[in-house]
Amino acid sequence: MESEHVRRAVGSVAVPFGTCGQPSNVKAGGQSCPFRFRCTGCDHFRTDVSYLPDLTAYFDDLLRNRERIRAAVELDDRARAEALPSEEEISHVRHLINRIHDGMDGLDAGEREQVHDAVTIVRRHRTVMLGMPRMRVTAINPRQENQS
Ligand code: SF4
Repeated sequence: MESEHVRRAVGSVAVPFGTCGQPSNVKAGGQSCPFRFRCTGCDHFRTDVSYLPDLTAYFDDLLRNRERIRAAVELDDRARAEALPSEEEISHVRHLINRIHDGMDGLDAGEREQVHDAVTIVRRHRTVMLGMPRMRVTAINPRQENQS
């Protein structure tokens, strides 16, 4: 499963709650989204059951923020409208979560167990990957190369 996950990751970059397969963004290592990282509403975005805990936590955050901002008395109407999470985003994230749950509901108990085990491995791998220090790539100066 780990090798399968790595194989699938080729040609995509990690974004919050999934991966992005948009070619120019992939080429730029995830630093060049042409759509200001509106991933959950983008056709280049892919997610799966391994992101379900993150999607669910994000969804809960959206709902909490919506209620907190609606209740805030210190905001005028313009500021409130700008601060509120959009209903479109809320319903889109809800739809993603429901689709993942529907997919899981179609599995028998043994298959669900296998998926659970695979998700545990993938999430552990992802945590390790995220925790790894990244080395800065420095361009080689040909003059310095020739001095030694
Ligand atoms: S918005 Fe689309 S193109 Fe941009 S990073 Fe997210 S998935 Fe990729």
